[in-house]
Amino acid sequence: MPLKKEDVFQLARDAQLYAGALIPGLDDDHEPHFDTLNPFTQQVIGRVQQCNGGHVDAAVKAGRAAFESGVWSRLSPAERKRIMLRWAALLQERHEELAALDCLDAGKPITECLNTDIPDTIHTIAWYAEAIDKLFGKISPTASDNLGLIVKEPIGVVGAVLPWNFPALMLAWKAAPALAAGNSLVIKPAELTSLSAYRIVQLAHEAGVPKDVLTLVTGLGEETGKPLGLHPDVDMVSFTGSTEVGRLFLTYSAQSNLKEIVLECGGKSPQIVFEDSYALEEIADSILSAAFWNMGENCSCGSRLIVHKSVKDKLLKILQKRLVDGWKVGDPQDPETAIGPMIEPAHFEKVCGYIKTAKGEGAKLIRGGEALKLGAGMSVEPTIFDGVTAEMTLFQEEVFGPVLAVTTFETEAEAIHLANATNYGLAASLYTSDLRRAQRVSRAIKAGTVSINCFSEGDIATPFGGYKTSGFGGRDKGLEALEQYVQTKTLWYGG
Ligand code: NAD
Repeated sequence: MPLKKEDVFQLARDAQLYAGALIPGLDDDHEPHFDTLNPFTQQVIGRVQQCNGGHVDAAVKAGRAAFESGVWSRLSPAERKRIMLRWAALLQERHEELAALDCLDAGKPITECLNTDIPDTIHTIAWYAEAIDKLFGKISPTASDNLGLIVKEPIGVVGAVLPWNFPALMLAWKAAPALAAGNSLVIKPAELTSLSAYRIVQLAHEAGVPKDVLTLVTGLGEETGKPLGLHPDVDMVSFTGSTEVGRLFLTYSAQSNLKEIVLECGGKSPQIVFEDSYALEEIADSILSAAFWNMGENCSCGSRLIVHKSVKDKLLKILQKRLVDGWKVGDPQDPETAIGPMIEPAHFEKVCGYIKTAKGEGAKLIRGGEALKLGAGMSVEPTIFDGVTAEMTLFQEEVFGPVLAVTTFETEAEAIHLANATNYGLAASLYTSDLRRAQRVSRAIKAGTVSINCFSEGDIATPFGGYKTSGFGGRDKGLEALEQYVQTKTLWYGG
């Protein structure tokens, strides 16, 4: 029996709306702190500790000592699995509270949090728990008097630096495989959305993940993220966020100990609709989800619609009708709401700036384009611009808001060229009824995930990450994510 809306938010209010360091010996030290706001109302809902380099150092030292002690790194895979499954079970017991926290803290629609973010978070943790004791090493083909074993070992102390758009889920994408592989982990959530991270790490400790092995440092990018990136005893950082900050982590690595860096960054994903696509009515909802799901604050957001000239007008009519019938903009606590506010005033201004620039550069506004006077006034109507050319800012830059750019093509070669004509390469969708075309085009698109006749990031079993400036050094999800968090050792036995 699902809880009523009021009950869910009461759960969150009853929770201590605080997030701060979870480092043995330092978890009572709550100062200094900054406020965290509900993006819809702009009212203060909680406090977040501003951790500094000292906190980061303490977390890394705890992680290092735990790693060398073997308390987690040398625990049998079956035992790590048991603890992580217990963690998933505790999260399941608290899933409504966690959904309410992400809704309140990030402005994400509650229905999405309840039906997608938190179930996927729990599934991710259980999936990697189940994978731990099914991974084998290799024996190399040697002469009979030698034995060459190729084994995988955890990397050591890993930092996970997270974005704000899927607070709980992005944490799980990193923490589950990193811990499954036996590493110590220091998590640094985005400063705008730390509440669910605090609760999820607490529940990991309750499940039996040692407190030294899994620590949390909350705070700002410069004060908390940078010391983690520069720390000489961190072996690896797995980062999800903007390409701009991702680049900084490569410099932090170069300036310190050449720690491994994995980057999951931004995108400007194309959705190509060919003239032979099956019923346009059927694909319209998928196109709208790609563009406007999570307010467009989604790395794989299908923000460029590249549509064959002959079907464009018909498709745009259908899209506009579907937008009017669905996609309610409103309070994210309302279960009917599909579009909540932008995460913060600065981001709202940035999105509005892109709309203004698109108009100034000659794109044709056919829908939306307005800020709505709801809550604190930071909601942006789902917006569609037609006549967008490859030279325009709206075609090239990640808006991270509900703004769809429409461009037409006449030949398959032109569609492929347009799809690849940005610096990003995270995801793409294509719609066609021709199987051979689907094969040709999906292979020609330079992106980490290409969905055919749908919009999808795959599921937990499929790797996710970017080509070009969308990614570097590894993949989240799938068994491939475990590769991020292990290193390869050769054991050579003489005859
Ligand atoms: P961001 O780059 O601003 O911040 C990400 C993290 O980096 C935060 O924890 C932040 O505190 C930290 N940080 C910021 N400045 C730093 C600095 N100077 N040194 C060290 N750390 C610093 O990104 P965001 O605004 O939180 O998230 C939005 C971005 O994330 C978008 O570009 C989106 O496409 C991307 N994203 C990518 C994926 C993916 O899987 N590829 C998933 C989600 C989001």
